[in-house]
This record gives sequence, structure tokens and C-alpha cells, in this order.
Amino acid sequence: MPAEKPTRILAVSNQKGGVGKTTTAINLGTALAAIGERVLLVDMDPQGNASTGLGVPRETRRITIYDVIVDGRSVDDAAVETAVPGLHIIPADADMSGVEIELSQADRRSYRLRDALALQGSTGKPRYDYVLIDCPPSLNLLTLNAMSAADGVLVPLQCEFFALEGLTQLMKTIDMVRQSLNPALEIQGLVLTMYDRRNALSGQVSADVRQHFGDKVYEAVIPRNVRVSEAPSFGKPVLIYDLKCTGSQAYLRLAKEVVARERHRRAKIAA
Ligand code: ADP
Ligand code: MG
Repeated sequence: MPAEKPTRILAVSNQKGGVGKTTTAINLGTALAAIGERVLLVDMDPQGNASTGLGVPRETRRITIYDVIVDGRSVDDAAVETAVPGLHIIPADADMSGVEIELSQADRRSYRLRDALALQGSTGKPRYDYVLIDCPPSLNLLTLNAMSAADGVLVPLQCEFFALEGLTQLMKTIDMVRQSLNPALEIQGLVLTMYDRRNALSGQVSADVRQHFGDKVYEAVIPRNVRVSEAPSFGKPVLIYDLKCTGSQAYLRLAKEVVARERHRRAKIAA
């Protein structure tokens, strides 16, 4: 029997707000599940937008990521099913704002998520192929937990003038995490979001980013598409809300690219 595929843990992160982190976590997660991967989305943002966007209402969020990180609840217990087959989520709640204080004296305070994810599947449930962590925009203990747990950082970049500015900050953070908490942390890839082909600036930002980061930038580009922004208010990923729209199709292309690159990366390591 072939060895079980290891879980690939990706932090969806960018210290700028409103660049498409949550949208990418939800819809890349959905698209990966749609092409047959087992996916866990970890909502690490106290705003809980990923939870809401996937149709997990606040009153049903029984065990949250707070309980995992602060109280040591297991990932297997905390993960709940979504309407998307193969996609589970650990929801977030506003009570996460207390995490910094609760953990100020705790052992391995930056590794709480990593330790919890290492035990996934130990209760007999199948392990995940991908874990996507939707990070908050700030650099706090939650973000550090995400980056300590992650194999790679997936960076959504909004195609607008200040895109590169936020990136410099993120690259510094990644370097800092490598030096102190997680030397193996990679940049998984950058994905251009909210691309508007009628806007010359979108093209310019895209060209700049590709020149700077080369093939770390995914070929799939997520267009600005009103269906993408409507879907969360229905508690649905855009792929379920409107599979045919340009946003859904772009997230499907991204998912295929992520999987293909992952396969390639593994083949290179094995060789
Ligand atoms: P972040 O998590 O980085 O703060 P979000 O994913 O919440 O960013 O996106 C910010 C806003 O932009 C949201 O209102 C979202 O619906 C909208 N948005 C994100 N991606 C797209 C897109 N491709 N087309 C249109 N609107 C989008
Ligand atoms: Mg968000």
C-alpha cells in the first residue's frame, strides 16, 4: 500500500486587510475539495468571516479555534462539515480576541495550532490533504500560530497600487518566523486577486509582481467578479452560488495549479 499522503498546511496570509485572504481560503478550499482533495479550513480571524461565508452561523459554533488553541481541544473534535463534500472547517468566534492574554504564560504558545494539527486523525478520522488557515490581517499570536504550523504561505495580492508595500512587510514577517519559530516555512505561492482587465493598473501590478517573484506567482488570476462578493451573504462559496461565473472558474484553475505544483514539488524531493 502506498504511504499516506502527508498533509500540506498552508497559511493564507497578507498583513493588508481586504486583499482576498478569506475569499481565497473559502473558494480555494471549495475548489480543492471539488477536485477530490480532503480539505480543512481553519478560521483564525476573530471576525469569523470564513465561518459565516461557509454557512456556519454563530450560534452553531460549538467548538471554535479558540478552544483548540487555548483549551487544547482536538482538531478532530472541532472540525465540522460544510455544505461542500470534503471540506471541513474549524470556526472562529469573537472570543478569540482574548487569546493573547490567555496564552501569555503558556507553554509553546506559538505552537498550539501546530501541536493540535499534528494529532489530527488520531481518533481514527481520515487525515486531511490540505489545511488552509485563514489568517487575520494583523501580526499577532494567531498569525504566529498559523505560520508556525504551516509548511507554506499562500499570499493573495490585490491588484492595486499598494500591493507591493504590504508584501515587504509580509516578507519580513516570514523571515522572522523562519529565524525563530519555523525554519522550514516556504512561500507556497502568490495569487493575484480582484484583477480588472479594463484597468491598466491591474496589468501593471501583475507584471511587477511576476517580475519580482517569477514562477512563485500562480498563472491563475482571480478576476474582480461581483458574484464572488455576493456569495458570502448567502453563506455559500462562489463555486456553489454560481459555478459558471468567471470567479468560480478562476478558483478551480487555481486549485488545479496548486495540486499540480504540489505533485511536482513532491516528485522533486523524492528524486
Ligand atoms: P481579506 O480576508 O484579505 O480581508 P476578503 O476576502 O474579505 O479579504 O475580501 C475583501 C472584500 O473584497 C470582500 O468584500 C470580498 O467579498 C471582496 N472580494 C474578494 N475577492 C473578490 C473578487 N475576486 N471579486 C470581487 N470582490 C471580491
Ligand atoms: Mg479575512
